[in-house]
Amino acid sequence: MSVTVDLEKRLGKEKVIRDPDILRIYARDPTLLEYQLPLAVVYAESVNDVVEVVKFAIENKLYITPVFHSTSLSGNAATTAQKTIVLSSEKMNRILEVSEVDWLATVEPGIRIDEFNLELMRYGLQWPVDPASSKTASVGGTIINGGGGMRGAKYGPASHWVLGLEAVIGTGEIIRVGCRTVKCREGYDILHLFVGSEGTLGIITKAMLRLAPLPESFVGVVAQFEDVVSLAKAVVESRRRRLWLLVAEFMDDDSSEFVGLERKYTLWLGIDATKGSEDVMLTRLREVIDKVGGKISAEARDWGTFFKLLGPRRLLYPASVKKAIEQYGGDALVLIGDVAVPFSKLPEALQEMKQTAKDYGIPTIFGGHVGDGNIHPILWFNKSDEIQKKKVAELYERFDEIALRHEGTISAEHGIGLHKKEFLKKTYEAKNSAAVLRIFREIKRIFDPYGIFNPGKIFD
Ligand SMILES: Cc1cc2nc3c(=O)[nH]c(=O)nc-3n(C[C@H](O)[C@H](O)[C@H](O)COP(=O)(O)OP(=O)(O)OC[C@H]3O[C@@H](n4cnc5c(N)ncnc54)[C@H](O)[C@@H]3O)c2cc1C
Repeated sequence: MSVTVDLEKRLGKEKVIRDPDILRIYARDPTLLEYQLPLAVVYAESVNDVVEVVKFAIENKLYITPVFHSTSLSGNAATTAQKTIVLSSEKMNRILEVSEVDWLATVEPGIRIDEFNLELMRYGLQWPVDPASSKTASVGGTIINGGGGMRGAKYGPASHWVLGLEAVIGTGEIIRVGCRTVKCREGYDILHLFVGSEGTLGIITKAMLRLAPLPESFVGVVAQFEDVVSLAKAVVESRRRRLWLLVAEFMDDDSSEFVGLERKYTLWLGIDATKGSEDVMLTRLREVIDKVGGKISAEARDWGTFFKLLGPRRLLYPASVKKAIEQYGGDALVLIGDVAVPFSKLPEALQEMKQTAKDYGIPTIFGGHVGDGNIHPILWFNKSDEIQKKKVAELYERFDEIALRHEGTISAEHGIGLHKKEFLKKTYEAKNSAAVLRIFREIKRIFDPYGIFNPGKIFD
């Protein structure tokens, strides 16, 4: 009898999908790459379901690739091995608790970020991790990828906003780590080992999250620049003036045009305010833009208005996928870089990346979260064109090299997945710390002694 029939018997038919059309959907990701077809997709509804799937995988020598909503951009949730079960936690999406005083919430990790934040608005609270994909992406996926987002300038990435986790590790045991308090020193920090673990250490089934109050008031501007250096200088200048921006996002001239904006370098700057201080704060933003030679095209005196103005920025990646398909049809592939550099290096690094892309002649657009130094170069190409493919791989490496040379990182928020494994090695070699990769392997073995979770990722 086939192993998937056994799986159906163990979990119930309704939780196990074997339809090849549906399996094919799970073998693709937003970069348009196609991966190994899984044996089955299991929709877990509880921690007990997860324990059963893990035990089943151990008994039957199968792999598990966990997935939430499949929006990862580095191949983090890709099925790479034969004999893989895709374990989906998308149905584990309930809010279990919100505490107005402790500013925390406990959720099942499959809940989508926007849905969660909509509910939190009733309490005047927010989970301030806001990836451009927040409409689709889950809280759990953002924690597990160590993601960040469009409020990162002030609030930083997901690692700052998780207090506790429940997870099933590769022995089938359930562990709970973290505290209800922000201060928590209970031995090794296993909680933060899970942040950025990309499904390689265990399956999370619950998350306790730190929340922030929604700002009393908010102001923002959208400004256009003639060149990328002046735009980056606006961020540097804000920091010199000790303005703790809440939002600082950008798109280059090409990508601005793709999403229907003026063909200029576009910058969104936003900052929280108190009631009555809006004029003062707006003046401060205007002064920054003026100083570096930008032109303000729109202003907002509340978050709702600014949120709408930010809409085109969320289209950065979808717009490049659309362009890629228009240009290369079914042969299109999209590759997104995820580098970050210290703020003081932003003008120089951005300029160098833009020039390098031009020199290679590969269609590349730039955008990202300049408020935390995070730049996304996005390239698209024809996967059947071997010469172009080679050039793209080289250019992608050049971006990573530029980031490292400017004391930055090759992996800010999307994770290592499949695409950045080689560069991870180079990163630790450059730090003269090759032992770190051995430590990674040993950590993996402790959590996942049978090697079942998400094979082929990060360093594997
Ligand atoms: C248009 C677009 C814009 C984006 N913008 C941003 C951005 O601004 N910032 C940013 O950080 N990212 C961004 N991303 C990337 C992506 O949205 C994030 O990484 C997102 O947080 C992933 O969430 P998900 O629910 O799709 O998770 P998935 O992609 O399904 O999974 C994420 C990881 O978690 C693992 N996993 C799945 N379920 C479990 C589980 N139960 N336990 C343990 N591991 C599990 C997976 O194997 C994978 O490694 C963007 C993506 C797109 C398509």
